[in-house]
Amino acid sequence: MTRYLWSERIGPGYIHGYEICPLYEKRTKFQRLLIFSNEQWGKGLILDGIVQTTLGDEFIYHEMMVHVPILARNKDTESVLIIGGGDGGVLREVQRYKSIRRIVQVELDEDVIIACRKYLPEICGDWNDKRVELIIGDGAKYVKEARERGEKFDVIILDSTDPIGPAIVLFERPFHEDLAAILKDDGIVVRQSGLPVTMPKVMPFIRKRFLHVFENVSVYMAPMPTFGGEIAFVAGTKDKGLSITEPKREFSGRYYNPSIHKSSFTLPNWWRDLIVNFKDDGKVPVETPSYW
Ligand code: SAM
Repeated sequence: MTRYLWSERIGPGYIHGYEICPLYEKRTKFQRLLIFSNEQWGKGLILDGIVQTTLGDEFIYHEMMVHVPILARNKDTESVLIIGGGDGGVLREVQRYKSIRRIVQVELDEDVIIACRKYLPEICGDWNDKRVELIIGDGAKYVKEARERGEKFDVIILDSTDPIGPAIVLFERPFHEDLAAILKDDGIVVRQSGLPVTMPKVMPFIRKRFLHVFENVSVYMAPMPTFGGEIAFVAGTKDKGLSITEPKREFSGRYYNPSIHKSSFTLPNWWRDLIVNFKDDGKVPVETPSYW
C-alpha cells in the first residue's frame, strides 16, 4: 500500500510526522475525517487534522477517563452519560461495569461512529448493548433538554474534541450550568482538557468553569505520546467530602491501577503555576494549533 508522509501541527513550529497508509477519508457534515494506519501506532483516527486516537496509546486515555470517576465513587455506578466519544473507546471501558444499567451517548457526527465501527473495531465498544442509548446530536442541546426533563446521571464523561468548531459550545458557561443540574449530588464529571504543554489555557479554563458549578474539582494527568505529551483531565463533583483522588474499589486495566489513579493527581509545579496564574477573560481559549 502506498505510504504518505502526514503531519500534525502539535504546537507553534512543532510537528509530529507519520508515515501513513490512508484507509478511509470523508468530509462529513461537521469535520474532515481520516482513518489511517502507521507502523508504530497502528490504526488511528484523525479529525480536522488532529489525531484523536490510535491503537498504540488509546487505552491510556480511555481507561483514565472512565475508571477514575467510576472507581472514585463510594457507590456502584448505574447511569453514565458520554458526550462525544465517537471512536467508542470510552463506551468500551464503561461497558466493563455490570452495575451500569443505562449508558447514554450523545455524538454529533454519526460518520465518526460508522467509520470507527468499520475500521477501528478494536477500540469500539458495543452500540448494540441493550443498556446503550445512542443519540446523534449536539451534546449541549441534549444536556439542556435532559435538565428540563429532570434527568440525572451518576457519571458524565466529556470526550469531545478540543475547543474548535462544533465542540466550542461544550466550553460555554450555560453548558456547565446544565451539566451540573443533570449530575447527581454524589456523581462525578470528567472532561479531557487538552495538553498544557501546547494549550496552556485550556485546562485552567475548564477547571475555572467546573469550579463555578462544582464544590470539589481536581485535575489529573496521563501520558499520551501521540497527542504530544501529558493530557490533563478535570474532574468535578458537588460532593465536598468525596475524595476523587482515592479509588474505592480494585480494578486493573492495561494502564489503570489503583496506584496510577492516586499518583495521576500529583501535578508538576508548572501545571500548578498555570492554574494559579490563569486570568479568565470569559473567552473560550481556542489554542489548538492544527493546520485546519
Ligand atoms: N480523544 C479525543 C480527543 O483527544 O480530542 C476525542 C475523541 S472523540 C472522536 C471526539 C468526538 O466529539 C468527535 O467524534 C466529535 O464529533 C464529537 N463532538 C464534537 N463536538 C460535539 C458536540 N457538540 N456534541 C457531541 N459530540 C461532539
